[in-house]
Amino acid sequence: MKNKKGKENKGLKFICPKCGHTRVECCEANAYVTSVLKIIDESGDHSYEAPIIEDSDTEAFQCVSCGFRPQDKHRNDINNCVEFAKWVKKHCKQD
Ligand SMILES: [Zn+2]
Repeated sequence: MKNKKGKENKGLKFICPKCGHTRVECCEANAYVTSVLKIIDESGDHSYEAPIIEDSDTEAFQCVSCGFRPQDKHRNDINNCVEFAKWVKKHCKQD
């Protein structure tokens, strides 16, 4: 991905303030998930293809390692990407 100036856009870097881990996960709630049935036999034994998330609400972002969740100034878990990007810019040292 490149930004307008033609520079490589590496995105923001998340650094967990508690444990220093750099991977963050997105917790989804109220998800509607479908998966295609690959095979089913007479006894009901079956397997599915990888599930597809059709619809969900982001509940929070959290550190993969320790479960730290960034919060907004009202102490609510941040649950949207715009706010999360702002939080990362403010709290994680970028190069
Ligand atoms: Zn952490």
